[in-house]
Amino acid sequence: MKFFYIHTFGCQMNVYDSERLTQALQDHGWTVTKNSGQADLLLINTCTVRQLAEEKAFSLIGRWAKMKADRPDVIVGMVGCLAQHLRQKAFKRAPALDFMAGPRALMRVPELAEEARQKKRVAVFSVCNFGGGTKAPEGVVPSAYVAVMDGCNQYCTYCAVPLARGREKSRSQKEILAEVKRRVAAGTKEIILLGQNITRYGSDLGQKINLADLLCRIAEAIPELSRLRFITGHPSAFTEQLIKAMADLSPVCGALHLPLQSGSDRILQAMKRGYTSTQYTDLARKIRAFVPDLVLSTDIIVGFPGETEHDFQATLDMVKQCDFDMAFCFKYSIRQATIAAELPDQLPLLEKEKRLALLLDTVEQKAVAKKAAMIGRREKVLIEGTDVKTKQRLQGRTRGNHIVILDGPPAWIGREIEVEITATANWSLMGEVISPPAGIVNNGQAIA
Ligand code: SF4
Repeated sequence: MKFFYIHTFGCQMNVYDSERLTQALQDHGWTVTKNSGQADLLLINTCTVRQLAEEKAFSLIGRWAKMKADRPDVIVGMVGCLAQHLRQKAFKRAPALDFMAGPRALMRVPELAEEARQKKRVAVFSVCNFGGGTKAPEGVVPSAYVAVMDGCNQYCTYCAVPLARGREKSRSQKEILAEVKRRVAAGTKEIILLGQNITRYGSDLGQKINLADLLCRIAEAIPELSRLRFITGHPSAFTEQLIKAMADLSPVCGALHLPLQSGSDRILQAMKRGYTSTQYTDLARKIRAFVPDLVLSTDIIVGFPGETEHDFQATLDMVKQCDFDMAFCFKYSIRQATIAAELPDQLPLLEKEKRLALLLDTVEQKAVAKKAAMIGRREKVLIEGTDVKTKQRLQGRTRGNHIVILDGPPAWIGREIEVEITATANWSLMGEVISPPAGIVNNGQAIA
């Protein structure tokens, strides 16, 4: 038996890519292991969004190099965005690396691993297809990702994603439907459609199909699907048709991640985001008019080159005005070969940290107040597994994507359960089951 181990950094698309890669390797006779010490093939799926992810990736390869010193036959491969972005430079920086593959060459990994076994150092960065997506794994998988497109044509000036993943490439509707059907038939209740710039789905297909049409097709063709989400939408490509699809299609959840990035028009322009702060606020207002209980989350970058106190204040004001349920906030991180990396007026780290702390404080105050307002509400929670911290309780998500922790048996995993929200706890909510799901008795055993 030959074993492989994958360590995944980065976004949901990387998690999905690692699932595809696992499938491809299993189809070629490899067996997955969770123990890196047992593996014959060590793979790192990398992220290029921030410098920290790059440093962590090379630090892990450094640890693997020590393992390889004891077991020279172990193969080490780097795949994903950072591999594509750094190319041959990664070989120089990490001599233990045997092969590299870019995000669109993942399906070549089984063949690259074989070549590397013959002591050849290889790298592939060319484009191949999605490789049929993921198959349904064994066991209960309550929520699954399905990629509908890859790449991005927006070229925001701070972002290395278009450099690593290339231009937008949408999958055919037929292929997506087949994958969603497979997952739902295997018991998955929630599908999260993925794309770096998903609101532009279909624009490269040369047919009249867009994201709203795709949501409609999935909802019509697979009525058993309980929940449908999509990430990540771009404000400039959000159409009225899409807003109506969110409001009208019952499986589509009323939760939306809509990156803002900055509240200053000057900075938004320098980032080349393609919208103004007013256009963003108007859009958020319009979506809320159609989807009244919308749970809105966002991404914000602080300390973009040239960001003044005034620009930063505009971001704080936007956070208050837009009433976000959650915001993922980051310090601007220089990415090689992007336009922003060459801009003057790069801010000192201390200033970026100070602004980030202030922003996080504002975001947290809002988030805490919004979560506290949920106490006493009844929510349908999809149980995803045991809670990350104690492993003693269950953890699930509301349709609005809030994490809820509750007591219950493992047999509830994969079920949607009505829960009353009883308290808040850090980033999650606590809940109590209103009535246990049918077919499960109190000791947690399923009955027919
Ligand atoms: S929309 Fe901008 S931030 Fe998002 S992936 Fe594309 S270039 Fe990067």
